[in-house]
Amino acid sequence: MPNAENSSHVAKMLHRRAGTLRPGDPLVPPLVAASAFLLPGEPNAPFGYGRWNTPTWAALETSLSILEDADTVIFPSGMAAIAAVLMTQLEHGDRVLLPSDGYYNTRSMAEKYLTPQGVQIELCATPDYGDKDFTGFKLVFVETPSNPRLDVCEIADVARRAHRAGALVVVDNTTMTVLGQQPLNLGADIVVASDTKALNGHSDALLGHVASRDASVLDAVREWRTLAGGIPGQLEAWLVHRGLESFELRYERMCTSAGLIAERFLEHPAIVDVVYPGLPTHPAREIVARQMSSGGSLVGVTFAHADAAEQFITRAEYVIPATSFGGTHTTAERRARWGDEVAAGFVRLSVGCEPTEVLWQDFAATLQELS
Ligand SMILES: *Cc1c(COP(=O)(O)O)cnc(C)c1O
Repeated sequence: MPNAENSSHVAKMLHRRAGTLRPGDPLVPPLVAASAFLLPGEPNAPFGYGRWNTPTWAALETSLSILEDADTVIFPSGMAAIAAVLMTQLEHGDRVLLPSDGYYNTRSMAEKYLTPQGVQIELCATPDYGDKDFTGFKLVFVETPSNPRLDVCEIADVARRAHRAGALVVVDNTTMTVLGQQPLNLGADIVVASDTKALNGHSDALLGHVASRDASVLDAVREWRTLAGGIPGQLEAWLVHRGLESFELRYERMCTSAGLIAERFLEHPAIVDVVYPGLPTHPAREIVARQMSSGGSLVGVTFAHADAAEQFITRAEYVIPATSFGGTHTTAERRARWGDEVAAGFVRLSVGCEPTEVLWQDFAATLQELS
């Protein structure tokens, strides 16, 4: 759950427009569809052309900046945000450390586009970041809890040692979101996140953001966005802003339900293994307690075999078989179908906003009938 400082950021974010409103203004930021803005004489207006900046982006960036307590630049997807950071911060001869067990597109993108440019990539499993020597790295990329296995490393410790080695620390905070974990407060230089997931939460838009307290980083990724031209759509930015208004409430329900369900799964004979950062059985439970304000909304559940996993996913009334996560509806998928290095019966369950006990009754009944 959000800590006290975060809660005050949420309240501030919800009311940030109030002080600026004049009678007759809409309470929420309008969706502005425009490619060009009135720009006479010296081009000093806040908005000129739609690839540079727009009122709808600016509204979302202001709200996200309050939550992150740092400047924020939005991108059309989480991958666009990650690409902007890697492309602007790395050059020929640099070494970058990436998680071997994190979101696979990050590795694929780096291997496909950075390797040919002379950037050296090294991989490390998330739990091994604690023992990793960061000497010689320009950038250390962290994803904790990692997607999909929910392994954890200690951000403050990584940041301290990576900084001593002269490296920049980037944290992909998608799985926990800014409400569950604040990497910038733990010493990270840059946060990247896919807001397609719980932050938007309505499974109707893709978006991502970069947040940092280092102005040179923000300037560089903003310039990358302008020059490379991968820009968020106005509707998507507006939808994500709309999702943001109920984000804290949704996330609280999702995390509470996920915690309860993980505990009950642990006791259940039909389930072989449960990975959930909030459980006392998680290998990094002490780090979790130090750096996360909840166990998150994702549960890794291992069934005895692939077939049992598929039966659970398809038979449960309130589980939608789908990739991605963080939506209002509970979704699940067997990650081995993508070639992830997990057991054939491993399911990533994304717990939604359904009433907790109704969800559990459905799961319990479905588990009872597994063959
Ligand atoms: C989904 C995801 C991304 C990519 O986000 P998109 O919005 O799909 O581009 C990046 N990192 C993690 C951890 C993710 O789960």
